[in-house]
Amino acid sequence: MKLTAISIFPEYFAPLELSLIGKARSQGLVNFSSINLRDFTYDNHHTVDDTPYGGGAGMVMKPEPWGEAIDSQIQGQNVVDLVILTPAGTKFNQRFAQTFATSEHIIFACGRYEGIDARVAEHYRSIPSVRVHEISIGDFVLNGGEVAALVMIEAIVRLIPGVIGNPESLLEESHNEMGEVEYPTFTKPATWRGLSVPDVLLSGNHGEIARWRSEEAQRRSQSR
Ligand code: SAM
Repeated sequence: MKLTAISIFPEYFAPLELSLIGKARSQGLVNFSSINLRDFTYDNHHTVDDTPYGGGAGMVMKPEPWGEAIDSQIQGQNVVDLVILTPAGTKFNQRFAQTFATSEHIIFACGRYEGIDARVAEHYRSIPSVRVHEISIGDFVLNGGEVAALVMIEAIVRLIPGVIGNPESLLEESHNEMGEVEYPTFTKPATWRGLSVPDVLLSGNHGEIARWRSEEAQRRSQSR
């Protein structure tokens, strides 16, 4: 899978060298690159923003550098998923992560200021080889799309076969096919600060353990 982030702060993506994603990159399961939007500007100040038409506070990201940056990434590609991060987008969830995990190339457009000129999404929607997704990672406003892209990348990449050592650990996770959250988990010691692990988990009775876990998952899913 190829992942490309376009941003005015490409340094934000340094953590993708760490942990399981870093390992997936060194194994060739994922190819990540970050691109500086300012490389697609031609003035001395490398300007990427301007005042909003219609007035109002803040600055809006200009469409021209975005167009050139995205064009440079879609040339010669079959189908590309273009994710435009915006708090006004469709909310990201595990089902989206599963769908994106089968993508060949995802481009993350990370906005700043008051966001990206709306014509960028409109223009790429008219290009058959580009699937445009305007995505929010939750009902709150960040300063920029970089952290949102990192969240999505982590959720997506861990679903690529070979990235997580034991693929069975993905099956019982929260937000699975059943739409439930996971049961509570415990490890040694059996008693910590006066709190004991539920007896059933120490019983060795696999049927009872499975039943307890299923009931706990349902209870948590309903109450949360
Ligand atoms: N004016 C915009 C609005 O009210 O919808 C907010 C712009 S925000 C300050 C700047 C950038 O941060 C956005 O263009 C987007 O890329 C990113 N961003 C902020 N919150 C986000 C969220 N919840 N999900 C995804 N991206 C977000």
